[in-house]
Amino acid sequence: MLDRPKLVVANRKMHGNLPDNRQFMQSLLQQTQQHSARYAICPPHPYLYQAQQLLQNSHIAWGGQNMSRFEHGAYTGSVSPLMLKEFGCTYVIIGHSERRQRGHENDETCGERFEAALKAGLTPILCIGETLEEYERGETDLVVVRQLNPVIAHVGIQALSQGVIAYEPVWAIGTGKAATPQHAQAILSFIRGHIGLLNEQVSEKIGLLYGGSVNPGNAAQLLGMPDVDGGLIGGASLVTEDFIRICQIA
Ligand code: PEP
Repeated sequence: MLDRPKLVVANRKMHGNLPDNRQFMQSLLQQTQQHSARYAICPPHPYLYQAQQLLQNSHIAWGGQNMSRFEHGAYTGSVSPLMLKEFGCTYVIIGHSERRQRGHENDETCGERFEAALKAGLTPILCIGETLEEYERGETDLVVVRQLNPVIAHVGIQALSQGVIAYEPVWAIGTGKAATPQHAQAILSFIRGHIGLLNEQVSEKIGLLYGGSVNPGNAAQLLGMPDVDGGLIGGASLVTEDFIRICQIA
């Protein structure tokens, strides 16, 4: 089995301001060190320049929370992959449930975005996961396959391994009700197995994250599961000490 590095990503959603971000990033720089785990911060887009100024040449990467599938054009309010790259982004989140639910993204356009991110030299973090109703109907496996397959069909299985997949059950996001470590492990193992049906090496190599109410109290157990290669952290990334603690645990 490959030794996959852990990755911890802060999804700061639509929170923060210049002084607050500065304090967050400077504390992170001071209180985490380069070791086997990798860290990244995804602030709202206007703050990417600030992230670039504060984090460049450090052990902490940064990324966008979304992007257009197009490079340029008449797409008011959108951000192009080339723009994210120009501001030094390493990562971009694609298909977050908060965007899927509002109709901004779907399984097909996620494939196009994933491809566009790779073309621009970004690492896409593809979010997939079931709603509460789907979970209660026992459809989690079906849903994650339904969300993953169009992306695989679009980019091909080899290209998939250049991205990261985050399993984020919608019922766990921002609710304080994290999945149990056993559930996260079972689904991520299922996702890895599904990818392995197409290509064993890609399935061993690809980074799989868990996201949904991760906090300093549950991070050790969740991130300690064998198929959990890290976490996508929303609410806990708004409390500097909590996010730093999660990074240290990873
Ligand atoms: C998220 O929105 O990606 C997320 C994981 O949020 P939270 O940690 O707040 O559940």
